[in-house]
Amino acid sequence: MVDVLVPVALDHTYSYRVPRGMALKPGDVVGVPLGSREVLAVVWAENANPDPRLHNRLKDVSEKLEVPPLKPELRSLIDWVANYTLSPRGMVLRMSLRMGEQLGPERVRLGVRLVGEPPKRLTPARRRVIEAVSDGLLHGKSDLVREIGVSGSVIDGLVDEGTLTVEAMPRALPPPAPDPSFAQPEFFDAQLAGVEAMRALAESGGFQVALLDGVTGSGKTEVYFEAIAETLRRGRQSLILMPEISLTGQFLDRFSRRFGVRPLEWHSELTPRTRQRNWAAIAAGEASVVVGARSALFLPYADLGLIIVDEEHDQAYKQDEGAHYHARDMAVVRGHIAKIPVVLASATPSVETEVNARKGRYQRVALPSRFGGQHMPHIEAIDLRREPPPRGRYVSPRLAGEIRTAIERGEQALLFLNRRGYAPLTLCRACGHRFACTICDAWLVDHRFRQRLVCHHCGFSMARPPTCPHCAAEESLVAVGPGVERLQEEAAALFPDARSMVLSSDLITSIETMRAELTEIAEGRVDLIIGTQLVAKGHNFPRLNLVGVVDADLGLGNGDPRAAERTWQLLNQVIGRAGREQGRGRGYLQTHQPEHPVMKALIACDREAFYTSEIDARERTGYPPFGRLASLIISAGDRPTAEGFARRLVASAPREEGVLLLGPAEAPLAVIKGRYRFRLLLKTARNFDLSNYLRHWLAHAEKPRGNLKLEVDVDPQSFL
Ligand code: ADP
Ligand code: ZN
Repeated sequence: MVDVLVPVALDHTYSYRVPRGMALKPGDVVGVPLGSREVLAVVWAENANPDPRLHNRLKDVSEKLEVPPLKPELRSLIDWVANYTLSPRGMVLRMSLRMGEQLGPERVRLGVRLVGEPPKRLTPARRRVIEAVSDGLLHGKSDLVREIGVSGSVIDGLVDEGTLTVEAMPRALPPPAPDPSFAQPEFFDAQLAGVEAMRALAESGGFQVALLDGVTGSGKTEVYFEAIAETLRRGRQSLILMPEISLTGQFLDRFSRRFGVRPLEWHSELTPRTRQRNWAAIAAGEASVVVGARSALFLPYADLGLIIVDEEHDQAYKQDEGAHYHARDMAVVRGHIAKIPVVLASATPSVETEVNARKGRYQRVALPSRFGGQHMPHIEAIDLRREPPPRGRYVSPRLAGEIRTAIERGEQALLFLNRRGYAPLTLCRACGHRFACTICDAWLVDHRFRQRLVCHHCGFSMARPPTCPHCAAEESLVAVGPGVERLQEEAAALFPDARSMVLSSDLITSIETMRAELTEIAEGRVDLIIGTQLVAKGHNFPRLNLVGVVDADLGLGNGDPRAAERTWQLLNQVIGRAGREQGRGRGYLQTHQPEHPVMKALIACDREAFYTSEIDARERTGYPPFGRLASLIISAGDRPTAEGFARRLVASAPREEGVLLLGPAEAPLAVIKGRYRFRLLLKTARNFDLSNYLRHWLAHAEKPRGNLKLEVDVDPQSFL
């Protein structure tokens, strides 16, 4: 008898009988009947004493799959994460088993080869097939169908005619192994201590967390590559987590310049076949370095020896649906369970990580200066109260002048505005009507390139109508405020000869086109980049020397307890794109509040001042990491139902000293996709067992029924 965990949103295990002749132990991947379906599952425990009343209703395990069992370390991680985040264990397990449709050894793929004469009846489709295989090599049948757009029956027909033969395609080769000594760089003085620390960390091999804290352009990647090289030499696997797959393009090339081959990728854009193959290579230990998005943390590595979390401060590490987990924090947990080192890299560490480094819980490895003697950018504020742009424009005369000079000098410039689309609001000049989403509490954003008004929360979109739907006035609609598309219009008027490019996540059709666009910029074929936060992160654009932040105040003062930290990180990162390879980078902050502590710290390049004041503030107010938070988001199809449930939930909360329960309050985003939302915020002392408290409370509280939904978010990052 065994208890198995099924990768669906359930917390408990199911008992199954082990058929005669099958030996099963915890971690084995099996197929089991569940209801009318056959599902994948993992043996979680042996069960010698099942409930006798269940006994004759138990079903048999149907098969044991030929894949390596999930190791105890991974099973503990899954239990730990589920327990901490209050997510069903099956939902966490699902991330470990996400390997495409078929599991187990790769299916045999069929290929065809040209062996005979063309048939008498030669249709255009048949001709295309014959042309495509005229090299006499073996071609995958499904590849041909996709590449030349013929149906499978055309190929089958040619096989029947004796023109082609069918053969099994050889199994994919294991990925080539990175070579730790392929191209060892020379390190400069300021990097040497860091390099030593990275090697020592990997050599010792045990659990330890290091903060690799280096200014933008200091060579953090080169330095942590040494920890990977050492881990490779020791024959163990390394995982590099990246916040966004948009970052991986340049990274893959850089990795292969250092190690001779590309690492294995893991993210949502992989085709099912690649996903399946990569999963198998990771589980078999054939993949020695994996670069992936947050979910790569839950893969069944055969022998993981090192985890790197690049840009550890990035918000994208927090998953906000399904299991609400923070991949950076859970990476530290995995490191602890597996007894391996973890490196957190950032130029602007999260306040949590900075506090851990200051307290000595994490080892600080500092890279204080830029590679190649490059200076940090010089940063100035442009006070919009004194130097405003012309009416209806967003770039002040001084910034426009600086950009013009930079472009004339052959440098690249970047205008940064963290707002997609053309304008965040459209209104009618005649009656004041504002275009809002019908099912969300949000304005519709004007997207001129796509010619739609779009809701950024649910994706609803409509064409911009010719007349106002409210008062029928003609030509009365005006766009209010700027987005990147509008900035491009302004830039075209200001710098008519410049080659400009807008980079924004909504304009990206595929990961390939994005990588191509980033390469175009890196190779200097663009003079002016106009971008959202997509450009802020990690990229290396050698000719970029000037960054103009159009609205530096945008992220401040929205009620988010992390507003100052986010603004500091984002603006540092984006200005840090400037002056990385030649000349002195310059950053301009257009702001209405140049005296704000974040602006002052940015201008003075005073990292310590920012962290010290922010840490003091958190300590005074008991915000993380000096206290703990959890959010409960209650939603329903109508407002009274959501609010009523939220109130009853609060009333049923166990009163405990040191637990502060705030709310219910209407969420800042009060309606999303027609669902009314209320929030509760729980605030406790640092060492309080918040997960346990929540579990106890919710087990005894009224359950959300019908249309009601309750989401629990431990350590929330978003307060919307
Ligand atoms: P960071 O991630 O700290 O912003 P990078 O790792 O991107 O910095 O390094 C900045 C640039 O300097 C990159 O182009 C990198 O290849 C180069 N670089 C850093 N260290 C070295 C080194 N020791 N030898 C050669 N190039 C280096
Ligand atoms: Zn909407």
